[in-house]
Amino acid sequence: MGFVVALDGPAGSGKGTVTKKVAEILNLVNIDTGAMYRCVALECIYNNILPTEIDKIEKVLEKIDIKLEKKEGKQIVLLNGKDVTKEIRTPKVDDVVAKFAAIKQIRDKITPMQQQMGKNSDIIMEGRDIGTVVFPNADVKIFLDCSIEERANRRYKQNLEKGIQETYEEVLESIKQRHILETQREIAPLKQADDAIYVDSTNLTIEEVVEKIVKIIKEKRS
Ligand code: C5P
Repeated sequence: MGFVVALDGPAGSGKGTVTKKVAEILNLVNIDTGAMYRCVALECIYNNILPTEIDKIEKVLEKIDIKLEKKEGKQIVLLNGKDVTKEIRTPKVDDVVAKFAAIKQIRDKITPMQQQMGKNSDIIMEGRDIGTVVFPNADVKIFLDCSIEERANRRYKQNLEKGIQETYEEVLESIKQRHILETQREIAPLKQADDAIYVDSTNLTIEEVVEKIVKIIKEKRS
């Protein structure tokens, strides 16, 4: 088992950006677990499968192939061999992913894949249940939080940069819905592990959050 950093938090807390930078600074392999749930949701969208159609979802899970790879220094996501890095971050996936991620059969497939990924390298894994379920014995656990309005604000700006047309209100509504689904689901809900260090990013810049987290990890690693 390598050195494991578990970083959990809600959508828009800055997890993705922060994890990437911390991984670079500390030479850790960065694993984005949300991308894996997004791939399952996208594959179900491709096949017109609803979150209620468990039999069909089980069939999808039998043959789904998800790979997180590095290409020219950038992380790419491959779904059954196709590069879906951009497509998994579009509103059509944002709107349904939390419903799929609440399904036991999906989590039972994805969780062991994540545990496997942590076996042979020093990693920083970001998600919702990494410190509570995937790696309950992680060397460092961080819970990165942020107010819901600021999260919507950040996602709105990211969307603008990507050319995605959605109003602030639409983004806020989507984030609120996702928050309810993620914190109230029965299996692996988003919650801070008892031994996680709480970091609130609401009034901090990305650089400030990165600095804080790097310091926490360095202290534990030495
Ligand atoms: O982090 P990101 O927003 O990309 O995650 C997409 C979705 O995947 C989340 O809305 C959440 O429902 C689900 N997820 C999860 N457990 C994780 C990571 C993500 O349920 N460890």
